[in-house]
Amino acid sequence: MPVPTPRWHELADHVLAGGAVTPADALAVLDSPDSELMNVVAAASRLRFEYFGTTVKVNYLVNLKSGLCPEDCFYCSQRLNSTAGILRYTWLNTDEAVTAARAGIAAGASRVCLVASGTGPSNREVGKVTDIIEAIKSDTPGVEVCACLGALKDGQAEKLCASGADAYNHNLNTAESHYEDICTTHTYADREHTVAQAHGAGLSACSGFIAGMGESREQLVELAFDLRAKEVDSIPVNFLLPFDGTPLEGVDTLNPRDCLRILAMVRFVAPDTEIRVAAGRERHLGHLQGIALYVANSLFLGDYLTSEGQPGAEDLQMIADAGLEVLRMDQPDHADEHPAEHAEPATAAPATAPGRRDEKVAIRTRGAGTSEPANA
Ligand code: SF4
Repeated sequence: MPVPTPRWHELADHVLAGGAVTPADALAVLDSPDSELMNVVAAASRLRFEYFGTTVKVNYLVNLKSGLCPEDCFYCSQRLNSTAGILRYTWLNTDEAVTAARAGIAAGASRVCLVASGTGPSNREVGKVTDIIEAIKSDTPGVEVCACLGALKDGQAEKLCASGADAYNHNLNTAESHYEDICTTHTYADREHTVAQAHGAGLSACSGFIAGMGESREQLVELAFDLRAKEVDSIPVNFLLPFDGTPLEGVDTLNPRDCLRILAMVRFVAPDTEIRVAAGRERHLGHLQGIALYVANSLFLGDYLTSEGQPGAEDLQMIADAGLEVLRMDQPDHADEHPAEHAEPATAAPATAPGRRDEKVAIRTRGAGTSEPANA
């Protein structure tokens, strides 16, 4: 007796044939029952493998300036009046930033993400960052650098681009219809403007969101379609880390299956876009983290801006365990530009159990801004 083709594979067939999913399709992915989860993941993984082969892009965060932000993003440990016990420091100097970047590059990162808290940089601060970008590029030719400095003034994106920056990150964070519920000091339109500025200057646009902030499924779909319409090149998908000392302290609405469905939904909507499983993956995906890499094709290695990730060696082992390989600096991102290769074994991982949803968010106390070795 023939086995009926599950609808998720029909949807993948449609996308692989050049079609687009509808908002109703995307919502159906989010609403799908747990009994369908592996079919959803399998169908989404066909798109991931079609466009990105077996590679995983490894990105490494360097927090150039931590805390002390005048904005009030409710989810952020660096916000105005945050009492989260995070590291607070002003700008790293160029040598400190290059040293921090080297740790991630040595572990396999092909992109370094230079991040600074704040509304947006002054022209003098952009000058600091362009010095850092030039130093990193001189130290490691071939590495990609993405800057994430907040809202940009006219001409700043062009300066970053001229210094060698490859990309600019500015997350939309949540749907336009939900934005007032997560921030009052700037608007969704402000964020859209910065994404457009980055694009306009010739930088690759990186823009994503944080799931689990009280948004509806419809709003997640709305956001995914907006990111697709903006033709961003990479979409970081974060899962809320409910820091103590922020308005979203204790908010915990996600489960690991929902996180996979969210990643799969974004993959169906933006099949050929880099999808990065980002902050919160350890806490919210738990033991399903490795499966996420069959849908996402990118991750952050080691620690995040103000919180700890799992050990970097464990990230690499997870990639190898999935039969995937770290994208090398000299490899193009998309699979149609390079032959499929098999994973090299990663370095041995320490035994740390993933899945920490009942625990407080672990604050980063090592790496950039400290004298302790980085987790990379
Ligand atoms: S997300 Fe950025 S702008 Fe918002 S409070 Fe945090 S550091 Fe400031």
